[in-house]
Amino acid sequence: MTTTSPTFAELTTIGVGGRIARFEQPTSRVGMIEAVEDADSKKLPLCVIGGGSNMLVSDDDFDGVVVRDARHEILVLDEAAPVEGRDTTVHVAADAGTNWDDLVAFSIQIGLEGIEGLSGIPGTVGASVVQNIGAYGQEVATSVSSVEVWDRQDKVVRTLSSQEMGFGYRTSSLKRSMYAVSSPETSKDNPFFPTPRYVVLSVSFALRHSDSGVVAFEQLARALQVEIGQRVATASIRQKVLEVRAAKGMLEDPHRYAVVWMQGTRRKQHVDAALQALHTLIESDSWDRNRCSCGSFFMNPVLTVEQADTLPKEAPRFPSHMPDGSSGIKTSAAWLIDHAGFQKGFSLKGSAQASLSTVHTLAMTNRGKASSDEIVALAAAVREGVQQQFGICLVPEPVFIGNLTLNGN
Ligand SMILES: Cc1cc2nc3c(=O)[nH]c(=O)nc-3n(C[C@H](O)[C@H](O)[C@H](O)COP(=O)(O)OP(=O)(O)OC[C@H]3O[C@@H](n4cnc5c(N)ncnc54)[C@H](O)[C@@H]3O)c2cc1C
Repeated sequence: MTTTSPTFAELTTIGVGGRIARFEQPTSRVGMIEAVEDADSKKLPLCVIGGGSNMLVSDDDFDGVVVRDARHEILVLDEAAPVEGRDTTVHVAADAGTNWDDLVAFSIQIGLEGIEGLSGIPGTVGASVVQNIGAYGQEVATSVSSVEVWDRQDKVVRTLSSQEMGFGYRTSSLKRSMYAVSSPETSKDNPFFPTPRYVVLSVSFALRHSDSGVVAFEQLARALQVEIGQRVATASIRQKVLEVRAAKGMLEDPHRYAVVWMQGTRRKQHVDAALQALHTLIESDSWDRNRCSCGSFFMNPVLTVEQADTLPKEAPRFPSHMPDGSSGIKTSAAWLIDHAGFQKGFSLKGSAQASLSTVHTLAMTNRGKASSDEIVALAAAVREGVQQQFGICLVPEPVFIGNLTLNGN
């Protein structure tokens, strides 16, 4: 292990994870491809990392290569088009390493609609399409025009259309390409894991020329005091989403950008604004431990109609689709956890460094010095409790890297 490499704890939002043998930050497209290809040709374990906000990494040493795309350019491809005709579409391309929320802020600033509801989601543009990020009634899938990838198997650059991306609820063909059977818990059998076969180089988005957007989520509509379906200024939507997220600890802690290995990965003006907002919210200059998480640790389960019938009447239910396209019912993982007896702030006896967030039951948090095993033990206990109470097996959302499993804990 070299001392010139960071640990995963320094690169991830939950702040756990062991030492890294080799860390590379290419600053060009060709450099990115070369770094990936070099690791693959030597058959070294490879992890392409973005903001480290959707991974839980073991404290063991990672004896491979971690690559982080240091390119952050955003390009407006066809600015003039909207004023010439009726079509209001504006294409914007962003390098995979671009901070996701920097892109959202930029798109609103230049008068584009389409991703404002995804304000405040940590991470990068590259990873946003891997798991099809979503929040407050929007998913990135609906705004993606095409994705440029490096195919690690065929060793060529490809441009995948939105259809070829195979987007689904928190998934895509890219995410599926790194799991043996589309499940995080069989991942170790896949040669590409913990990164997809297709490494994202850049993403093109089709946004619309408008300074207002549609409010498509009840909680957001309530917070904005408007009706669902109403149009509201995109800047107001962004502001409200950030406020609602902040109250639930669902923003990353901006202090992480002061960590040497994170510096320069996000635009300074946005880090400063987030620090200012955090200071106002919790009146403290220290880390907000509720934000040291991977966000939602479990996905909202999508059940068959028969399965959903076995839940208590008051359990949340939303129309959805099963993976085979048939009708399904989505319920809330947070509700299940809460009603299985795990309150906000819950921790296992003798392991207070890992606890549920004190403001959101769906986030496993590191209170400062948690080990990866402590986080896993907490998550395993929560999953077991929900299974016993409701017969539903929760599926984790983050990528587990290293010797970590929720089974047998
Ligand atoms: C506080 C908090 C709130 C969150 N809220 C939400 C939310 O509302 N909605 C939501 O959907 N998610 C949410 N998340 C999860 C997370 O922010 C997203 O999944 C995000 O897209 C991860 O981006 P990242 O760059 O941090 O990915 P990383 O954690 O760095 O990587 C995740 C996976 O993507 C792969 N990857 C990274 N870059 C590339 C690339 N260029 N090409 C191919 N594969 C790549 C990695 O190898 C890994 O397998 C939240 C997380 C946190 C911490």
